[in-house]
Amino acid sequence: MATKAYDLQFRLPIRLCYEMLRAIGSEVGWEVRAMDSNDYRLQWVQREGNWVWGLTIHIHATMRSLDSNTTHINVEGEVPGTWADVPGHIPKALAKLLGPFERWATEAETLLSNGLMCPTCGRKLQSGAQFCPIDGTSIARNCPRCGCGNIPSAQFCAKCGIRI
Ligand SMILES: [Zn+2]
Ligand SMILES: [Zn+2]
Repeated sequence: MATKAYDLQFRLPIRLCYEMLRAIGSEVGWEVRAMDSNDYRLQWVQREGNWVWGLTIHIHATMRSLDSNTTHINVEGEVPGTWADVPGHIPKALAKLLGPFERWATEAETLLSNGLMCPTCGRKLQSGAQFCPIDGTSIARNCPRCGCGNIPSAQFCAKCGIRI
């Protein structure tokens, strides 16, 4: 038995991570399933009858919400023998899934904290947007004193200067 594990953590809501993993995964033959709102799993789906030599290969990912804005993703693969024996398309598929996901997640963290991405649907937004045009999610962090909308990561109100 040989195992590979990846631990990823992002300042992103779990729902967004799930939607993006599902979109990327469907392109490379992964199936992503929501078990419940806090437990999402991915599995490799055999597409072309490639389970040669009776190999049983388990690769799965589990996502957990650490809080409403932080998601932990653990990806584990277990194969008989060594990874060198595994048909090359399997580790390649894993790399194809995780590479684009990590690139997306890094960009999304910045967009989200600057109010340029909807935290519900992941749509990119115009600068200064107060609501998502698709699902109406409130983007701005409203100042309790003057009501001005601020970016989600704002520490102080951009209009009146109080700490928010
Ligand atoms: Zn939205
Ligand atoms: Zn204010």
